Amino acid sequence: MNGFDICGDRFRAMVLPNAPLETLADGFRWLEGPVWFADHNCLYVSDLPNDRILRWSEGGGASVFRHPSGFANGHARDMQGRLIGCSHHNRCVLRTELDGTVTKLASHYRGKRLNSPNDIVCRSDGSIWFSDPPYGINTDYEGGKQMPELPPTLYRLDPATGELTIAADDFEGPNGLAFSPDERILYVAETGRQFDVEPRQYIRRFQVDEDGRLSGGTRFHKIEPGFADGIRVDEKGNIWSSAADGVHCIAPDGKLLGKILTPSVISNLAFGGRNRCRLFLCASQRLMAIFTNVRGCVRP
Ligand code: MG
Repeated sequence: MNGFDICGDRFRAMVLPNAPLETLADGFRWLEGPVWFADHNCLYVSDLPNDRILRWSEGGGASVFRHPSGFANGHARDMQGRLIGCSHHNRCVLRTELDGTVTKLASHYRGKRLNSPNDIVCRSDGSIWFSDPPYGINTDYEGGKQMPELPPTLYRLDPATGELTIAADDFEGPNGLAFSPDERILYVAETGRQFDVEPRQYIRRFQVDEDGRLSGGTRFHKIEPGFADGIRVDEKGNIWSSAADGVHCIAPDGKLLGKILTPSVISNLAFGGRNRCRLFLCASQRLMAIFTNVRGCVRP
């Protein structure tokens, strides 16, 4: 039986009591960075410590799409339908072209190596935004111990020119990213940089101006228990965040609307499937999914 924590009628209308929480595949080491490709009818997802990207489809199950993957983490899809992603080990952002070749989009800022790009989103103006905390180079487990050269930063990349600019840099560790449906707000999950500092559990809210500059950045919502790693937005502008006890649904005003409770920690999530109303969950060693009564925002 499904477990929900329903705080009111708004969330009750968004979940389906008769839709099961399904395990689609099991036996991974730690899943991250899911993205749905509707025309391929499949999900791409990172099995991070196993250094591989998986492809899952309803008919074909899970198979290895790329190994080694440079310890891939977050993924998104650009406006031309190409897979873009983050590599911890290679400390870069990559694009998989439609013919399968891989292009490195960014690896340095002002001559210094990026840390370990973590999560990534595209805006409809073509810009690519990614977080660059040092998590992936803190340990051999997630990409290999290496020295950071830059502070934790949120970057904006113009893929046409290769120009990389700092979007915001007042973070312990920027993590998951998601735009509001009108792209005027960017939500950024902030997590602690090291285990020995107070964990950061906030989703922050930035205004995006006409030129793509950010302002604001207030703490919009605190996730408990756990922290917000991956976040996604639905077509109504609600934020769906990973947490230690499942998925939390947060209204645009910051109010917690309800939770989908899961048996293990959720790290990342993505809407996909038929009509974008299936929520795919990176549930630690398992890939899980549940149908919802709300559709994901058009851009993943
Ligand atoms: Mg992350």
